[in-house]
Amino acid sequence: MANKLINQMGLPKSIANIFTARNIITAKDALSHTEFELMELLDVGKEEVTSAMAHVSEVVCPPCQTALLLLEQRVRNETLAGHLPTRLKGLDDALCGGIPFGVLTELVGPAGIGKTQFCLKLSLLASLPASCGGLDGRVIYIDIESKFRSKRLIEIGINSFPEIFHKKGMAQEMAGRILILRPTSLSEFAESLYQIKVSLLQQQVKLLIIDSMAALVLGEHECGTTRQQALGWHVSFIKSLAEFSRIPVVLTNQVRSQSGDESRIYSFQAQSRSIIKDNPATYDSHLVAALGINWAHAVTIRLVLEARSGQRFIKLAKSPISPPLAFPFKITSSGVILLDDDGIEMKGPEINTIQCQGLSLSSLAVNSTEYVLCTKNT
Ligand code: ATP
Ligand code: MG
Repeated sequence: MANKLINQMGLPKSIANIFTARNIITAKDALSHTEFELMELLDVGKEEVTSAMAHVSEVVCPPCQTALLLLEQRVRNETLAGHLPTRLKGLDDALCGGIPFGVLTELVGPAGIGKTQFCLKLSLLASLPASCGGLDGRVIYIDIESKFRSKRLIEIGINSFPEIFHKKGMAQEMAGRILILRPTSLSEFAESLYQIKVSLLQQQVKLLIIDSMAALVLGEHECGTTRQQALGWHVSFIKSLAEFSRIPVVLTNQVRSQSGDESRIYSFQAQSRSIIKDNPATYDSHLVAALGINWAHAVTIRLVLEARSGQRFIKLAKSPISPPLAFPFKITSSGVILLDDDGIEMKGPEINTIQCQGLSLSSLAVNSTEYVLCTKNT
């Protein structure tokens, strides 16, 4: 708006030409002077200056928007954009249909809580035929920690969608639609993102998963400032990918202990598991998302997966359309299942806390090679 040209605003030609002659080309140039200064610069009377500036201000002023207009825009955008249903009824209802297209959705929680299980289910849902309620598309799964297990994917598929997966060749076809990328460094990851941008349009990709974003960024950068810079660049790029392709983008985030910088414990760091085991109270009581506040602002939906008194919960902690809600869940052979579709409304500090109480580490890490390493070392 501020860069609009004065001579294209419909001012009388005589005054517009004087502005141009005095090198006042844009609205910003004109508005950065007082009326008195303009009278001197342009050598014209007060009345002419006042009327010209009133006209310039009117042209550059953003149009007035009513709440109704904003609501209508939102409904229009959401209808165009759509959602990927998670088939967890309570969560889908709260999210008005599921994981929204075109924005970032984050899953954050301690090791072994079920983030990858959730991602596996979403991958299947995006690749299912449309006749079965899927998006009938391909999935790009960026598996930073090499935790993706095809066997588990098929197990979830067979148990969740037996009518599809028992058809001959269907399991292979579904699994064949999920492309796994395993970048080993941030630079490799950035390269993958550029390639993905092209594939998103050409390959009918309907879902992008990054599991886990925290392991990628924190694994490479020890220093806070460099880390924030690296993260900032990648987040902007991933956000632009989501907006440009209008697909759901799901990213996982880890947790760390909040008790002082030196004693930071990232849940995915192998040697830290012994510290966690020795100091369960420290680890359990002060958990925060590993990627900090800038990251938290960048995501539109934040789902916190946590455990309280041995019970797992999915908390819808950040959403532009829902109050904070918590749903108890369990993990079965068919993946993540809600135990109750009526979310418990949260008020107060519990919205922002992340708990890991009462689930034993051994059950949390059954699939993790890190755990094997750790038990050998301890
Ligand atoms: P990390 O941060 O270490 O990657 P995560 O949150 O991604 O952890 P997942 O790998 O998603 O954790 O979840 C692992 C948990 O899933 C196991 O601890 C186990 O409780 C559960 N799980 C895995 N497979 C099955 C299964 N076949 N049946 C029931 N539960 C299972
Ligand atoms: Mg995982």
